[in-house]
Amino acid sequence: METIGLFGGTFDPIHIGHLRAAAEVRRRTRLDRILFIPSYRPPHKATGGTAPAADRLRMVEIACRRRAGFEASPIEVEVRGKSYSIRTLGHVRRLRPEARLFFIVGIDAFLDIGTWHEYEKVLAECFFLVTGRPGFDLERARGVLGGRLRSSIGTLEEAGDLAGAAPPRSRVILTGIRALDVSSTAVRDRVRRGRSLEGLVPRGVAAYIREHQLYRGR
Ligand code: ATP
Repeated sequence: METIGLFGGTFDPIHIGHLRAAAEVRRRTRLDRILFIPSYRPPHKATGGTAPAADRLRMVEIACRRRAGFEASPIEVEVRGKSYSIRTLGHVRRLRPEARLFFIVGIDAFLDIGTWHEYEKVLAECFFLVTGRPGFDLERARGVLGGRLRSSIGTLEEAGDLAGAAPPRSRVILTGIRALDVSSTAVRDRVRRGRSLEGLVPRGVAAYIREHQLYRGR
């Protein structure tokens, strides 16, 4: 069965923390591909200072170039309006009705899942791969869901073959990867202070930020 990871985010900008996390997830899960989906207007974040969606998408495209199995997806940017996971899921499902879909989310984002639009429906309709992030204990994910859903959390080993004929045994799969301590906030901050982005974003992304003078005045 085809397996697709959906990695959503503001990607303002995309950085090596995102890329390393996705690469580790793909290495460990053997997902066929991962779609990086920049949000048009992130519902959970203040939108005032966000770089234009077209720029964020372009940087994701640059970062995915020559990285096997990684693809930039314009779904949310093209749909415009609020970016809701349930809508994005429906969209991908229509394009790839046979595929098994996995949302990839960092533990920081997963801890907020109770605030997501129709989150129980999202949980019912796809699988989650929750990744670690420095400063966050992955085990905290177990405390987020109540009732019936609590028993559907497990480790990657417990989930079994993600591409097998039978569905994975856990709906929310804890993926203990080694995450890098990098954030978009730190990247924007360095641009503002005129510091180098070497080692924090791919070279092509650093060049794009320079050429388009992003993140200078904020
Ligand atoms: P900001 O600093 O602006 O809040 P961010 O660096 O957290 O941004 P987002 O685009 O908001 O990046 O994150 C998108 C997804 O990537 C989220 O699921 C988040 O948990 C995950 N993520 C972000 N940075 C890392 C990292 N260094 N390691 C692992 N996952 C990450």
